[in-house]
Amino acid sequence: MTTMLGVSLTGRRVVMVGGGAVSARRLARFLADGADVVVVAPELIDGMRELVEAHGVDWYPRRVRESDLDEAWLTHTATGDARVDAAVAGWCERRRILCVNASDGAHGSARLAAESRAGDVVVGVVSDTGVDPGRAARVRDAVAARLRDGSLPLRRRRRQGSGRVDLVGGGPGPIDLMTVRGRRLLAEADVVVADRLGPTDVLTELEDGVEVIDVGKRPGHHQMTQDQINALIVELALEGKRVVRLKGGDPFVYGRGGEEVAACLAAGVAVEVVPGLTSVVSVPQAAGIPVTHRGVSAGVHVVNGQAEITASTLAALADDSVTTVVLMGVAALPRLVEAARTAGVCADRPMAIIERGHTPTQRTTRSTLARVVEDAARADVRNPAVIVIGDVTRADLLMSVPEMAGDPAL
Ligand code: SAH
Repeated sequence: MTTMLGVSLTGRRVVMVGGGAVSARRLARFLADGADVVVVAPELIDGMRELVEAHGVDWYPRRVRESDLDEAWLTHTATGDARVDAAVAGWCERRRILCVNASDGAHGSARLAAESRAGDVVVGVVSDTGVDPGRAARVRDAVAARLRDGSLPLRRRRRQGSGRVDLVGGGPGPIDLMTVRGRRLLAEADVVVADRLGPTDVLTELEDGVEVIDVGKRPGHHQMTQDQINALIVELALEGKRVVRLKGGDPFVYGRGGEEVAACLAAGVAVEVVPGLTSVVSVPQAAGIPVTHRGVSAGVHVVNGQAEITASTLAALADDSVTTVVLMGVAALPRLVEAARTAGVCADRPMAIIERGHTPTQRTTRSTLARVVEDAARADVRNPAVIVIGDVTRADLLMSVPEMAGDPAL
């Protein structure tokens, strides 16, 4: 029978006997746990020698003797010689030192679990009797996959110390376009502070008791200001909560994520950012539009339609080799078109407007600079939409391009 213990090896002496591939793998693990490792082996394989040198591990280049086990909490023996391993295991047994014996078919008094970590959760798999590392690893991998995608109940039941904020980019909408890291952090969250856009379906998967605060549109409330949102996430974290600030697309692309990070840092709150698929790229992609395309567009200029139209935007619009992507641009479309026409941009410049990308009601309206205001009005184009200007929006683009013969560039 086996009892699994979560043992802390930090600062504790671990004696490793043998210098082969198994020892090398395990050495990396013991070092990661902060153990005080001593190696006894006449020779080390290259990988083991590198680790020993990089970490300043004590190495005795000779055969093992019993006194090597002095002061050990744990011994790991993998010499490739079952008799030597058995002898080491015997000494350990007499001295009441736990021993991992890596010889084929041997058990030792301890065995290392096939381990996986997700955040601060550690899952280990061992066999009760015998050893079957292949099976343990497969079970571990299956559990690890579910841990990573957030489908296991990872939320803490006991608060520990201080809270934290994770700004999670949720991508354009579909749950399976979110990152697995984002899903895991959602599964760990006590509070989710969400916007209107992005993967709102994941909110329905949260465990009961997880608080969801919709700062985009709260019934009976005004939309919160950015300062109020900053103050809210800081306050929740200071209460000791794990806060996920869920955003559409990427937090750092017109998401005001930078301001939220700065507010957390200023308040001494731990904060991290998880990138998301930005609509700048993923919404045109949903309409079959590559934002760059070899021989057609070599660059992308991204603008916020609500901001002032700058000289660099006009230059991008006038440059046939650049794609311009406008977010939050529906209301500003007439103003943008007029500025471009005044600046002499070609009236035939092709454009596309993609509404509600990656949703069942996605719609693409193709037009040109000269006609787009009229076409958008006729189609009743609305937010959220991404406007793309440039030759990559031609409807026949991907059917008419010559075959790209094995050149991976661009
Ligand atoms: N941080 C986000 C952008 C936030 S600004 C990102 O990286 O994608 C909000 C704008 O994004 C909207 O006005 C619209 O222009 C665009 N947008 C976001 N999701 C969209 C979607 N599913 N379809 C079309 N446009 C979208």
